[in-house]
Amino acid sequence: MAGVTVVAGAGGFIGSHLVRDLVEAGTEVRAVDLKPLDRWFYRSNFAQNHTLDLSDINACRIATKGVDEVYNLAADMGGMGFIEHNKALCMLSVLINTHLLMAAHENGVSRFFFASSACVYPDFRQRESDNPGLRELDAYPAMPEDGYGWEKLFSERMCRHFHEDFGVVTHVCRYHNVYGPMGTWDGGREKAPAAICRKVAMAMLSGRHEIEIWGDGEQTRSFMYIDDCIVGTKKLMHSNFVDPLNIGSDEIVSINRLVDMVEEIAGIKLKRSYNPGAPKGVRGRNSDNSLIRQTLGWVPSIPLREGMEKTYRWVYDQVKARAEGRLFVSASA
Ligand code: NAD
Repeated sequence: MAGVTVVAGAGGFIGSHLVRDLVEAGTEVRAVDLKPLDRWFYRSNFAQNHTLDLSDINACRIATKGVDEVYNLAADMGGMGFIEHNKALCMLSVLINTHLLMAAHENGVSRFFFASSACVYPDFRQRESDNPGLRELDAYPAMPEDGYGWEKLFSERMCRHFHEDFGVVTHVCRYHNVYGPMGTWDGGREKAPAAICRKVAMAMLSGRHEIEIWGDGEQTRSFMYIDDCIVGTKKLMHSNFVDPLNIGSDEIVSINRLVDMVEEIAGIKLKRSYNPGAPKGVRGRNSDNSLIRQTLGWVPSIPLREGMEKTYRWVYDQVKARAEGRLFVSASA
């Protein structure tokens, strides 16, 4: 019989979706997050739910006791606006992955998943808008995003050495931007898709038909819808592949085009202003999906337009609820 599965960072965006998916599939889940339960994006009544600070090794020992598999999705993170101004906080997430790995090893966990990021790729490969796609081997020679990216690259290697030296089976994904309902949409940690949905929804509700765009809007990214993210995460966890693997969409889009798309979905046209001094990140980023296709026989495929329609509707409801003075209540089932 399958044992208990830990989802670390269960109160966050990807963790919430993963818990829901695993519980629906009949998995016994231990969901763990630093946040108090009422601030989790989603809480399952069929999971063991714990508030623990996983930067502390004793908390990691409690979280992984009697456990079969660990998904580590816990990190102090956010979009460019957060990671450019909070490098030390981002680097401190190294404590979470290191202590979780140590505790997982002590407790004989059979599989361990670490959520790394496309921010491990060097800036010099991301200076053009028409990025052809970052291959896994492009991470070296290393010059990742300062702070957040260095932590991810170091933790990737920690996983690798726990596997090589101690036999812990580790799987490492490099997520490219993930978006969808139940993600952070305001407060400074939100990423571009949610931020644009919020700005468009606020323009709709307030009647002020304006939008501020960070940079010149010609920077490019690819965005993966959360359902693809969950499928890819579980596939990698149960594969035999132990090297870092991109999990991301290869549908590249500029921020200006993303704004066009959300305007089309909302049925509105906004006056744009550009803020050249705002955090922008690299000029162009895309995922090369050759290796994931080869190893998992699968690639993320949900079209951006389809995912953005669902995301916009969800963000619009949040903005409207707040405007009407209704409190945010996390979903549970
Ligand atoms: P999120 O911020 O929504 O969730 C992370 C969760 O970790 C939060 O609920 C937070 O409270 C929790 N956490 C932070 N410190 C903790 C601690 N000390 N102990 C326990 N829990 C703690 O982020 P997300 O978007 O769900 O991302 C999940 C993982 O995927 C992170 O490691 C992130 O770096 C990585 N990732 C995400 C994206 C993306 O686009 N969302 C892209 C690349 C990588």
